[in-house]
Amino acid sequence: MTTTGPDQPSDPTGDLAERKMRFLFALRSRGVTDARVLTAMERIDRGHFVRGIFADRAYEDMPLPIACGQTISQPSVVGLMTQALNVQPRDVVLEVGTGSGYQAAILSHLARRVYTVDRHKRLVREAADLFRTLGLTNITALARDGSFGWPEQAPFDKIIVTAAAEDPPGPLLAQLKAGGVMVLPVGQSDAVQSLIKVTRTDTGFDYEELRPVRFVPLIEGLASE
Ligand code: SAH
Repeated sequence: MTTTGPDQPSDPTGDLAERKMRFLFALRSRGVTDARVLTAMERIDRGHFVRGIFADRAYEDMPLPIACGQTISQPSVVGLMTQALNVQPRDVVLEVGTGSGYQAAILSHLARRVYTVDRHKRLVREAADLFRTLGLTNITALARDGSFGWPEQAPFDKIIVTAAAEDPPGPLLAQLKAGGVMVLPVGQSDAVQSLIKVTRTDTGFDYEELRPVRFVPLIEGLASE
């Protein structure tokens, strides 16, 4: 007999394990090869972060709609961005764009501490509830405009932005430690954007273009809900 608890999606045909295996295979075949990143993505079940009618597609390598008209990113893009960030166990990481909380949850397995912000209070509240339920105690989530970073907790070893700005926001560059890395999409919304990696050196910033991507825009100010 199959029993189904609140945290276990109904899986009468037993294909959930197979779907999860295919999920990891898709990540590898799209270039996510870092063992620590793959382990974190194996441990954090994307099924917790996708609700409603799209829950069924949580293990497919595609972005999906979440509340407030936003999207949970495509898993392989999450993996590639996390890999490019090269997170170390002692790192303090800032994420701009909490969304569903999926990216922050993966970072929480790799870093010492994760700070994540979103301009939608509802997304922050729901993500914080999930972090609590999943026992991810090293994440702090806050509703605020992330283009100004989190000055009270700066500087950061790593910064990841999961919404696209035209250029890297100045306050975020300023809140990066020397030797620190920021990964973010840049470009006009609705056009092809580029994922870039910015490394802070002793004298300035190095920029490396990684790949074309498509993200929702980074919008100024706190949203009304
Ligand atoms: N990382 C998320 C996906 C984020 S989608 C995940 O893993 O699910 C992009 C998010 O950026 C949206 O939730 C949007 O509300 C947020 N966002 C856009 N502009 C912002 C800003 N200025 N400050 C903070 N968050 C912002």
